[in-house]
Amino acid sequence: MKDYKRYLITSALPYANGPIHIGHLAGVYVPSDIYTRYLRMKEADVISICGSDEHGVPITLKARNEGITPQEVVDRYHTLNKKAFEDFGISFDIYSRTSNKVHYETASEFFLNLYNKNEFVEKSTDQYYDEEAGCFLADRYITGTCPHCGNENAYGDQCEKCGTSLSPNELINPHSTISGSKPVLRETLHWYLPLDKYEGWLKKWILEDHKEWKVNVYGQCKSWIDQGLQPRAVSRDLDWGVPVPVKGAEGKVLYVWFDAPIGYISATKELTPHWEKYWKDPETKMVHFIGKDNIVFHCIIFPVMLKAEGSFILPVNVPANEFLNLENDKISTSRNWAVWLHEYLEEFPGKQDVLRYTLCSNAPETKDNDFTWKDFQARNNNELVAILGNFVNRTLVLTNNYYDGAVPESAQRDENDEAVLAEIARIRGNVETSLESFRFREALKEAINLARLGNKYLADAEPWKVIKNDPERVRTIMNISLQITANLTIILEPFLPFSMEKLRGWLNLSRCSWNEAGRTDLLLAGHRINKPELLFEKIEDDAVERQINKLQATKKANEAAAAKIVPSKDPVTFDEFSKVGIRTATILEAEKVPKTTKLLKLKIDTGLDVRTIVSGIAEYYEPETIIGWQISIVANLEPRKIKGIESKGMILMAEDKDGKLVMVTPTGKVSNGSMIK
Ligand SMILES: [Zn+2]
Repeated sequence: MKDYKRYLITSALPYANGPIHIGHLAGVYVPSDIYTRYLRMKEADVISICGSDEHGVPITLKARNEGITPQEVVDRYHTLNKKAFEDFGISFDIYSRTSNKVHYETASEFFLNLYNKNEFVEKSTDQYYDEEAGCFLADRYITGTCPHCGNENAYGDQCEKCGTSLSPNELINPHSTISGSKPVLRETLHWYLPLDKYEGWLKKWILEDHKEWKVNVYGQCKSWIDQGLQPRAVSRDLDWGVPVPVKGAEGKVLYVWFDAPIGYISATKELTPHWEKYWKDPETKMVHFIGKDNIVFHCIIFPVMLKAEGSFILPVNVPANEFLNLENDKISTSRNWAVWLHEYLEEFPGKQDVLRYTLCSNAPETKDNDFTWKDFQARNNNELVAILGNFVNRTLVLTNNYYDGAVPESAQRDENDEAVLAEIARIRGNVETSLESFRFREALKEAINLARLGNKYLADAEPWKVIKNDPERVRTIMNISLQITANLTIILEPFLPFSMEKLRGWLNLSRCSWNEAGRTDLLLAGHRINKPELLFEKIEDDAVERQINKLQATKKANEAAAAKIVPSKDPVTFDEFSKVGIRTATILEAEKVPKTTKLLKLKIDTGLDVRTIVSGIAEYYEPETIIGWQISIVANLEPRKIKGIESKGMILMAEDKDGKLVMVTPTGKVSNGSMIK
């Protein structure tokens, strides 16, 4: 493996129209943070770059829906998400944003550079234009009837009912969501990046030279390239974004996919005046951390942009993850099916590392994976508390009890002692290998094996028993346990930074470099440690049940919202309507129809007569409670026999979403037989 002089780590810029959830953390930010912390501990020259992606149509749509400006939308989520990252110890060197001035300058310059080198293809196409609002319409601003399923509210890019991808001109009866008017087709000029021109180069660069990329990433790239690449527009008719910096391009901005990855470059510029050595020196290893929805942008489109520009380096690896599901269902912002970071911290204060640990243990590295609250609880209770916490606590408590907190000198070590100590360096090596290959689950599993090793050593050696007969031997046991504990603060630091900071405090140990891991003299005899607290605490069943109940409530609310309203029926004339004799009436008697569950036999005073009506409401009304009620009936419905009883007319009912029937009654007293019209 090539040795690089420095590292440039980028993490996908979160889109600033919603808060961050556990899926983002598991897929992108926890792995990128582990990798960055590891490199920093190796004293590598490394910078970690991220920021908010603040342009594009969904942000303008959200602003319009809420009656605020796009800037207000992005300010809200930039602030919220920046804080969430800080709270979870995601240690970017900079968290910038694409609405910054430096980004506008950098993105414009990048575009101009390609423009001047004739890298773009100019093309005029017909696009929908809203004459009332005076603007071109992005696909999402056009709705109409889906040609596939007849959904009347399909968007210009997709029908959300049947899931079909659409283009705006496929919509039947399109209209603008801005003014409601029917849009017209108008010619507009745009610039295209000719990806097809780079197909041969991409084939060699990815398919031949980067066979080591993760299987899911390599496979997706191959399938894109095999399908054949098309020129892709880099500009849009929109008023929110980086203006296209050429004459005649008024009202056009850079397409968000073109502008966003340049955000990595502008954020680096903002961070350091020496930004060019990170972006232009082939001795820099650039790694993009992203989710699978971003593979095409970071493996194909952005590299083509960089290649076309000519002075930039390309990513060495793009370790994209698959998606994390939540309790067997796809995480969804619009359905509120998510665990939001800011809410997690309110409900589990101080437990950032527990979530980091669970998300890394269960990361969707090679396939989609599932987060469940039961698994979260089990990982905390059975691994963090029972193994890591237990070992650390016993070691520190015994050292305080036996030696008043002073590290004892190790006497003669036996064969097993030496084997255990040798294991530390071996574990470190394994963790390194896994981290360097972006296998974070495996790395964490191996790192926690060090705590397992310590736990087993202590349980086998039983110093609490040996102390009675052989206190000299206990000094050695405790010295070795303390060295393992000190090594944990190094090897687990990238994964559990909050807990390891605590542990260093109790050990009275300053931060060590990664290369010190494996040493067996990190704590010298006589060094004083402090009194520990619990590193992790058990998570009880009721805390987990609360979370599960919360999700179940969300599911119910979603189902209710999705329940369908019966579509409007065909029109009837007034004459037709007048034929139906709807009148008020009063219930005189009510009884269940024997051997049925749903039917009530009612005796009704209709003003015209007293008659019998059979009605299917027994599930909703007790007979004795409805006597005397005034109701509405269809009095001239042809009589029919139900269970042998002649029913003359029908009682009017409203049927709720869940099928429940409710009687329709006048809100004030009227005479029986009053016409309802
Ligand atoms: Zn459809």
